[in-house]
Amino acid sequence: METHSVMKETRQEIMALLEGCGAEVRWNEPMAPYTTIKIGGAAMVMIFPRSIEEIAGLMQRLSVAQMPFLILGAGSNLLIPDDGIEGVVIHLRDLDQVVLTGDDTFYVEAGFSYPKLATYAEKQGLSGIEFAAGIPGTVGGAVAMNAGIPGEETASVVKNVTHVSLTGEIQTFSREECGFSYRANGLSPGVIVSVEMVLCKAPIREIENKRIELLKRRRNTQPLSYPNVGSIFKNPDHMPMTSAGRLIEEVRLKGHRIGGVQISEKHGNFIINLGGGTARDVLALMQLMQERVFLEKGVRLVPEIKWWGASNPVFFHNTL
Ligand SMILES: Cc1cc2nc3c(=O)[nH]c(=O)nc-3n(C[C@H](O)[C@H](O)[C@H](O)COP(=O)(O)OP(=O)(O)OC[C@H]3O[C@@H](n4cnc5c(N)ncnc54)[C@H](O)[C@@H]3O)c2cc1C
Repeated sequence: METHSVMKETRQEIMALLEGCGAEVRWNEPMAPYTTIKIGGAAMVMIFPRSIEEIAGLMQRLSVAQMPFLILGAGSNLLIPDDGIEGVVIHLRDLDQVVLTGDDTFYVEAGFSYPKLATYAEKQGLSGIEFAAGIPGTVGGAVAMNAGIPGEETASVVKNVTHVSLTGEIQTFSREECGFSYRANGLSPGVIVSVEMVLCKAPIREIENKRIELLKRRRNTQPLSYPNVGSIFKNPDHMPMTSAGRLIEEVRLKGHRIGGVQISEKHGNFIINLGGGTARDVLALMQLMQERVFLEKGVRLVPEIKWWGASNPVFFHNTL
């Protein structure tokens, strides 16, 4: 009963807070369809702002009310709890403009699809993000995660990033000021709303060949026919000659199944949803992977994916 009345109060508070904010608002929105692994309960409220100004206004309202929120891109690096999110989720679907700003530069908003951006750049004869074709996130998510492949990362094509702070301030930061590192950035908490990228001119055929080659390599090594969330753990940075996937394979966990999820037979660092998988199943598999690799190899794997649960399981060393 008590939980119910707390939720009711929160809901009324959020309704009052969002009145007249301009953005589309959905209540009790199931979140599994917004993730690539198709797992997760409902968000109490999901908001779809249509402009950077609307996001700044939202941030101001939420900060005055001290209401926490989460930013959702394409949900390709996220694990959402089975009982959902009892709070505000902001989805950047409608921030999807891309505009050329020079011969080799373009401005793109955070909600634009990263694979579509690879195609866009290719059509302009711009090389440098062919790798994005196989990363099923948004531009905002790619900047937030500094997404990339060995030897190439999003940070290297970023000219500047526009960001809305928790209090609604809109600021633009140079690449150096963004403090990028392996699968992370150093920006203060807030919303990445747009990016200017600088690429290199190259023959379209060359760019296309590279993109196709990278996609082919992925199809051969990753379990792309099942819902998944990409690499579960980061590669250990002090062991350049190995990878999280190889370590998990060496401790004989490939193919191991818990409930509706399984460590892929094709790639040890991928968990696939065979149907009906839950966040609880994924967490249990992750714990097993981490414990076994630590026990047999002495390596503590650090999750790459983000967990949106209210409390972090002990083995989950990362933050939102
Ligand atoms: C099949 C597959 C292959 C993949 N391959 C790769 C790969 O090769 N390399 C790689 O690096 N990753 C890979 N990934 C992981 C994932 O696609 C990337 O991390 C991607 O950049 C996440 O973007 P997203 O929009 O889906 O972010 P989400 O999963 O929605 O969010 C991830 C995190 O970023 C935050 N975030 C998202 N958008 C914003 C924003 N605008 N402002 C502030 N914070 C934000 C979220 O709050 C969350 O903490 C793969 C995933 C899959 C499913």
